[in-house]
Amino acid sequence: MIAAPGAGKGTQGAVIAAHFGIPHIATGDLLRDHVARDTPLGQSVQGLLDRGELVPDEVVLDMVRGAMTTSDGYVLDGIPRTMDQARALYALAVELDRTADVALHLHVDDDELVRRLLARAEVTGRSDDTEDVIRRRLRLYYEVTHPILAWYGERGILVSVDARRPAELVGRHILTALEVLDQVMSGNPDLPRRPVDLTGLGAAFGSSG
Ligand code: ADP
Repeated sequence: MIAAPGAGKGTQGAVIAAHFGIPHIATGDLLRDHVARDTPLGQSVQGLLDRGELVPDEVVLDMVRGAMTTSDGYVLDGIPRTMDQARALYALAVELDRTADVALHLHVDDDELVRRLLARAEVTGRSDDTEDVIRRRLRLYYEVTHPILAWYGERGILVSVDARRPAELVGRHILTALEVLDQVMSGNPDLPRRPVDLTGLGAAFGSSG
């Protein structure tokens, strides 16, 4: 998934992972978990997280490598964030024989993003959800992350969805699109599609995005 902060990657990543029975690998969550447990890695990245700056590529790539080897499928959330990370991730995926089937872009306009992130700040108390840091994270997204989308477009795996609408509706559209793609990629049009059922995912819709 590629999307600006606040677009709903956390929420939709959980929905996709639950639907397909695959792990949701969220680099931000993994990093915050290290900070919360006060591990050496957590101590080394805390300042960067607080300021909304990127942690070194090796750190996130190592975490993702570990998580990706434990299952056949995956939903990546928070990586790649730069073109360098996109290339490194592609090389890693080729090595593990798990290249991405889909690059999912969640589109939300900036005003709505800032509104959502400020609202989230009141609930989660995340250290990087202050107005200054939010604006820096958005700037960084447009500078270094957004350009990656063109690369996935050229590879022919880009799927963009309008993520301004309510989370349940966005989730329904994503799962429907992914089910159709799954069927096409399996090469068997008669393969039964999993029903798109969001009724049991209340917990996922309560999480941050
Ligand atoms: P956001 O809601 O801003 O997308 P995340 O939870 O994905 O937040 O990430 C929070 C922070 O973790 C980022 O601001 C950055 O400091 C760090 N981080 C997460 N993923 C990466 C990555 N792939 N490369 C570098 N830093 C990362």
